[in-house]
Amino acid sequence: MRLENRIALVTGAGRGIGRAIAEHYGREGAKVAVADLTLESARDTVQAIEASGGTAIPLAMDVTNEQAVDDGVAAIVEHWGGLDIALANAGVQHIDPVHKLAFADWSKVMSVHLDGAFLVTRAALQHMYASGGGIMLYMGSVHSLEASPLKAPYVAAKHGMLGLCRAVAKEGAEHGVRSNIICPGFVRTPLVDKQIPEQAKELGISEDEVISKVMLKNTVDGKFTTLEDVSELAVHLAAFPSAALTGQSIVVSHGWHMQ
Ligand code: NAD
Repeated sequence: MRLENRIALVTGAGRGIGRAIAEHYGREGAKVAVADLTLESARDTVQAIEASGGTAIPLAMDVTNEQAVDDGVAAIVEHWGGLDIALANAGVQHIDPVHKLAFADWSKVMSVHLDGAFLVTRAALQHMYASGGGIMLYMGSVHSLEASPLKAPYVAAKHGMLGLCRAVAKEGAEHGVRSNIICPGFVRTPLVDKQIPEQAKELGISEDEVISKVMLKNTVDGKFTTLEDVSELAVHLAAFPSAALTGQSIVVSHGWHMQ
């Protein structure tokens, strides 16, 4: 097992990519703190991890709430005695052209991704620095590296997370902290399924065309990235043995956006 007895926090882990990573971390021997907006959604993932023989606890943590994040991270440290891996994964999407975008929708997307990533980072680093090191991971996107229409707040927030990841790699090095950002292409989760009809309406094309002509157009083989693809990369980055790999954005996307 590649993460035996490592203590990991995954935010937004009640479903989708975060859940797949939390379950994969559990199978690799990590103790996993499963955080999501509600305890109920976090508990589902915890049950799945325990059913596979793993160890996990649920946490209700709105990542935009400073107190909830600080308390949640403190609870992990109290429960298991430390924190080795923290993945800022929680995210939301909003589809609108910039000229029609409500400030509230802009703020919501920026806040979940960027404020959330900052708050999780600050709370985690305080424990990681005190214990001699750790792994910070961020769930970026190909949209950390390039833009698409109708997604301005998401693109801006994901670019911002790349900047935070790089800043943490520089500041964290002397404390034994490494920091990398995972940049997936499209993965079929509720976040993506919701935007297919929204984009079809906004662009005046069919849902099949949104998939083939928008989402997968620039892949090398017309395929979606899978939950397993992303979780395998998240395990690899958490288990990587040295600081040779820090401050990097790793794209997992069937070739969409080659760096
Ligand atoms: P999803 O909608 O299936 O899951 C997102 C999870 O985040 C949900 O469980 C939700 O409850 C949680 N969440 C939302 N707001 C929160 C908050 N304020 N505090 C705590 N939790 C919150 O989406 P997903 O596709 O699994 O996305 C997960 C991450 O992966 C996001 O950061 C997303 O931007 C990123 N991503 C997704 C794709 C994709 O194609 N699905 C591609 C690239 C990056």
